[in-house]
Amino acid sequence: MQVTIFEKILNGEIKSEIVYQDKKVIAFRDIMPQAKIHLLFIHREKTVNAVELGLNNAQHAADIFSAIAQYAKESGIDRDGLRIVTNVGRHAGQTVFYTHFHVLAGEPLRTFGA
Ligand code: AMP
Repeated sequence: MQVTIFEKILNGEIKSEIVYQDKKVIAFRDIMPQAKIHLLFIHREKTVNAVELGLNNAQHAADIFSAIAQYAKESGIDRDGLRIVTNVGRHAGQTVFYTHFHVLAGEPLRTFGA
């Protein structure tokens, strides 16, 4: 399986601005932010996308959503709201084939899908 940029971030080969970590999940700032706050949450164990994760590692979804909730509460971004997005495959525009959840916040977001 191809080594992705997120594995390089995980093992410290590539620098990133990490904003959250626990035993299972890390989150860092997206290099090309689509909102004032744009974070990427990933599990330390690799899957390729959210469909593979759901089929074979559904516990990862719980780990990631727990991390997002904890971060949202601690940082206060839940007060004004946030968006959680995950792209699966070519038609959705997935570019990094390591499951990740985008968290967008910090300002009013454009209507989704408009
Ligand atoms: P997706 O298009 O859903 O696969 O999202 C991949 C995301 O990874 C994009 O929003 C990119 O801007 C982001 N990205 C790519 N390289 C890096 C990096 N080195 N550090 C942080 N984010 C990155």
